[in-house]
Amino acid sequence: MTKRKILVTSALPYANGSIHLGHLVEYIQTDIWVRFQNMQGNTCHYVCADDTHGTPIMLRAEKEGITPEQLIARVWQEHYDDFAAFHVKFDNYGSTNSSETREFAQGIYRKLKAENLIEVRSIEQFYDPVKNMFLPDRFIKGECPKCHAKDQYGDNCEACGAAYAPTDLINPFSAVSGAKPELRNSDHYFFKLSDPRCQQFLRQWTRSDTLQTEASNKMQEWLGAEGENKLSDWDISRDAPYFGFKIPGTENKYFYVWLDAPVGYMGSFKQLCNRTQDSGNGIQEKLNFDDYWKQDSDAELYHFIGKDILYFHALFWPAMLQHAGYRTPTKLFAHGFLTVNGEKMSKSRGTFITARSYVEHIKNTEYLRYYYAAKLNGTMEDLDLSLDDFVAKVNSDLIGKYINIASRCAGFITKRFDGKLDKEIGIPTQLIGILQEPAAQIAEMYETRNYSRAMRAIGELLNHVNFFIDTHKPWELAKDPSQTQSLHSICSEALRAFRILTIYLKPVLPQLARNVEVFLNTGDLSWEDAQTFLPSEHKINDYKHLMTRLDPKLIEAMVAANQESLQPQPQAHSEQRHAAHQQQEAKKVVTEAEKDTGAFISIDDFMKVDLRVAKIVNAEHVEGAEKLLKLTLDIGEAQPRTVFAGIKSAYDPEKLKGRMTVMVANLAPRKMKFGMSEGMVLAASGEAPGLFILSPDDGAQPGMRIK
Ligand SMILES: [Zn+2]
Repeated sequence: MTKRKILVTSALPYANGSIHLGHLVEYIQTDIWVRFQNMQGNTCHYVCADDTHGTPIMLRAEKEGITPEQLIARVWQEHYDDFAAFHVKFDNYGSTNSSETREFAQGIYRKLKAENLIEVRSIEQFYDPVKNMFLPDRFIKGECPKCHAKDQYGDNCEACGAAYAPTDLINPFSAVSGAKPELRNSDHYFFKLSDPRCQQFLRQWTRSDTLQTEASNKMQEWLGAEGENKLSDWDISRDAPYFGFKIPGTENKYFYVWLDAPVGYMGSFKQLCNRTQDSGNGIQEKLNFDDYWKQDSDAELYHFIGKDILYFHALFWPAMLQHAGYRTPTKLFAHGFLTVNGEKMSKSRGTFITARSYVEHIKNTEYLRYYYAAKLNGTMEDLDLSLDDFVAKVNSDLIGKYINIASRCAGFITKRFDGKLDKEIGIPTQLIGILQEPAAQIAEMYETRNYSRAMRAIGELLNHVNFFIDTHKPWELAKDPSQTQSLHSICSEALRAFRILTIYLKPVLPQLARNVEVFLNTGDLSWEDAQTFLPSEHKINDYKHLMTRLDPKLIEAMVAANQESLQPQPQAHSEQRHAAHQQQEAKKVVTEAEKDTGAFISIDDFMKVDLRVAKIVNAEHVEGAEKLLKLTLDIGEAQPRTVFAGIKSAYDPEKLKGRMTVMVANLAPRKMKFGMSEGMVLAASGEAPGLFILSPDDGAQPGMRIK
């Protein structure tokens, strides 16, 4: 079998926040795949980097009083340590703020320009006159033009979900300085995606088997039908001040962060190539960048990404590569999002859990790797981390079925047989045969990223081995001296089985597998080793605890700690402090308002009052009543309502006939001296004499609800 040359990437995490359990779905998924490929004997390199450019990084550094370079260096270390804790093993973990990435980004730009695929256009954009900078959409806020919710971002409304341009906002303001932004013109650089060459290429590229079916369908939607030109050109420049790479040949234009982010894959791989070339020890093969990235490369290139960044990876990125003379990705592997207990991760529920917090509370990160593997199926579906199920699965599958095989048998071998297995008979036993047989099928499940199927298949094998042990009961054989030989062969066979199961689980549980390799004294196990078994009188090492049960109390403590961290803390980051301060300020305002007008009611309280537009079809005096008029009101019901209203002093009944007003329609009917009153008409009055009934604007119809 020829060995494959593979380069794999995960999406670059942004250097503006911590790694959380949602991020880890992707890195663990990728890492399992890479480890599996290497166990197959393929050459598989895994690179990644921090995504470091853009306005949010620039502003956050400023807020913290440090340079962007200092900020990204600190976050890089945090990210690097978090990934290491979860056994995510990159061959190179770089940063997009590197000379390698800069060279590739500028080189790609120059080639696109030479191909006549770059265009300069003047565009009108909001500018912060206090901060002296153009504002990205997310840094402009204002009132939603659709639902009038206040304090909404410049691109879409979180209250009603409407999408719009920042210029549509009512009373826009800069989220950076609070200033009223001005519209100013500036030259922007565009990558001409609408060019027929790009359209034609993308149509073919997204239709080939480079994408999962669901992703491919999405792309066809974005591209439109044949002959249709739905793609617009992509704005790849930002004006100074901006933390990023300067566009060649300009004074104050920078590449938009999304242009150089995927180029970071190339930059990070180039760093890996440089390292292997520098080593000069003759053992490590020299890695050649062009072998993997030139247009006719025979290496495979895979990007693991979240479904939210499909647009960038399936349209912009391959089009850039294609027209700059590089190879395009072999495939994109998109995955869904993480939910916790069936809901979006939430800070108030304590389910927004950072990698750091998991490590502090649970410590063993392979529990999570196993649980994710048991759930991942290679599609774009969301993955749910049900915390109760997590505990149950780890304890029943990993501890109860897998670890228990070794813990129930190893002691007898060490104590009774000097640590040596029995003399094997040379051909696989029935049990070993059952375990070896599905190796290729399980490999195919890993290859297609259907890890959940692989875990189920391995689970069935675990059942076989446990059934074998339960049937032969080594703990009873041990009590009978005449059964010594049986005890030896049963325990030896169980450990031979344990070794094969460890091979199948090794991509998911790399640290545990390493400990088993030491315990069984086997050396580095590859996938092929599943077809062999431990030889006669093989000497094993003393069994040490491989894994302990997951205590549900640890999970409770972790969730509680993540809830607590919402409280303002003295040592919190300046950003959190700022947020906490703002919350306190907001509270102060509320309290003062409360003093002024009494307690607030909720919208639900208000909605309890059923206010309707009413047409006064008749109005008349009531005999014997000093203040009342009898009104007949049409509110769109089969029968008109009768209401006695105390407005006689202010209105001539004749003049009220035919007018529209407002009534409370769900006021309990009240029996009065003159008859039943079925509601109340609204009127305003103040200190001065005078009474004024309300009227809706022209066009309102009887029965319309007022809300
Ligand atoms: Zn809205």
